[in-house]
Amino acid sequence: MGATRHSKVLIIGSGPAGYTAAVYAARAMLEPLLVQGMQPGGQLTITTEVENWPGESTIMGPDLMVKMEAHAAATGAEIVSDLITSLDLQKRPFTAIGDSGTTYTADSVILATGAQARWLGLASEEKYKGFGASACATCDGFFYRGKEVVVAGGGNSAVEEALYLTNFASKVTLIHRRDSLRAEKILQHRLFKHPKIEVLWNHTIEEVLGTEAPLGVTGVRVRDVHSGAESVVPCDGFFVAIGHAPASELVKDQLELHHGGYVRVEPGSTLTSIPGVFAAGDLTDPVYRQAVTSAGMGCMAALDAERFLAAEES
Ligand code: FAD
Ligand code: NAP
Repeated sequence: MGATRHSKVLIIGSGPAGYTAAVYAARAMLEPLLVQGMQPGGQLTITTEVENWPGESTIMGPDLMVKMEAHAAATGAEIVSDLITSLDLQKRPFTAIGDSGTTYTADSVILATGAQARWLGLASEEKYKGFGASACATCDGFFYRGKEVVVAGGGNSAVEEALYLTNFASKVTLIHRRDSLRAEKILQHRLFKHPKIEVLWNHTIEEVLGTEAPLGVTGVRVRDVHSGAESVVPCDGFFVAIGHAPASELVKDQLELHHGGYVRVEPGSTLTSIPGVFAAGDLTDPVYRQAVTSAGMGCMAALDAERFLAAEES
C-alpha cells in the first residue's frame, strides 16, 4: 500500500494555472502540494515561441514552463511527479489517488488540469504540428503575415479563429464538413461579410500537404462529402478549430460543468459547486484559453483557497 500525504492545498496540474496557484499558495504559507500529471508544464511545452507572455517578447514555451516550475519550487511549493487517477470530492478531507499508489488528502483542492485542443487525427497533421499546422490562431497567427491559411471547423472557435487570422493572412479559407455553421449568428455575419474570408462547405480534410526539408505546409487535400471529388486548397498555415476537450474527467460526476464539459466557476471567482474546491485555467474557460488568463485564474484560485481555509479556521 502506498503512502498517504496530506496538504492544506492540493493543486492538480502543472500548466500556468497550477504553477501560479502554487506560487501564491506557498507565499501564503499554505505549503501546497502540486501534482504535475502526464504533461509537466502543460500545453505550452508542445509549442515553440510564445510571444504574448508579458515581460518576455519571445520565449520558447518549454523554457517558460521550466521557469514557472522553478519559481513555484523556490517559493516552497512541493512539486510531485504523479498522475491523479481518481478524486473524491464528496467528503472532507478531499481524497485523490495517484498512479504511483500515493493517496493525497487535502483541506482544499485547486483543479488546474487544463484542456487539450481536438485534432482531426490525421497522420499528416501530426507531422506538421508546429511546422504550419496549429490549433491556436492567437498563438501562431502572427507567423502568417501576408500568407494564405486554412481553418477547419464550424463552431464559434473556428469562426473566431478565422476572423482573427484576417489580421495577418492575405486569405483565410474556412473549411466545414456541413452546409451550415454552429457558430453564433453575429459571428457568422462578420465571417460572411469579411472580404478576406472564403467558406468551403461540405468538405472534409483528408491530408495536410507540405514540404520535407524544411518541414512546412503547402496545402490541404479536401473531399466533397456529396460527390467524393478530391481537390487541393493551397495554404501556408493550417489551423484546426474543432473544439477543445477540457480535462474534466476526474470531476465530471461531482462538479457542475457547462459548455460541453468545462468546470463551471462562479463568475469573477474560481469557486466551483463544492466549497473548498477551486478551478482555474483552461479547464474552466471555453473563451480565452491563454497562458496569461490561466495564470491569472491560478492566482485567484490560491487566494480563494486561502480565504476559504482562513474562514474555516476562524
Ligand atoms: P494546461 O497548460 O493545459 O496544463 C494542464 C496540466 O494539468 C498539465 O500539466 C497536465 O499534466 C495536468 N493534468 C491533467 N490531468 C491531470 C491529472 N489527472 N493529474 C495530474 N495532473 C493532470 N497561450 C498563450 O497565451 N500564448 C501562446 O503562445 C500559446 N501557444 C499555444 C500553443 C499550443 C500548441 C497550444 C496547444 C496552446 C497554446 N496556448 C498559448 C494556450 C495555453 O497553452 C493554455 O491556455 C494554457 O497552457 C492553459 O494553462 P492551464 O494551466 O489551464 O492548463
Ligand atoms: P464546437 O461548438 O463543438 O464546434 C466544433 C466544430 O468543429 C463544429 O462545427 C463541428 O462540426 C466541427 N468538428 C468537430 N469535429 C470535427 C471533425 N472531426 N472534423 C471536422 N469538423 C469537426 O466547439 P468550439 O467552437 O470550440 O466551441 C466550444 C464551446 O465553447 C461552445 O460552447 C462555444 O459556444 C464556446 N465558445 C464560445 C466562444 C465565445 O463565446 N466567443 C468562443 C469559442 C468557443 P459540426 O458542426 O458538423 O458538428
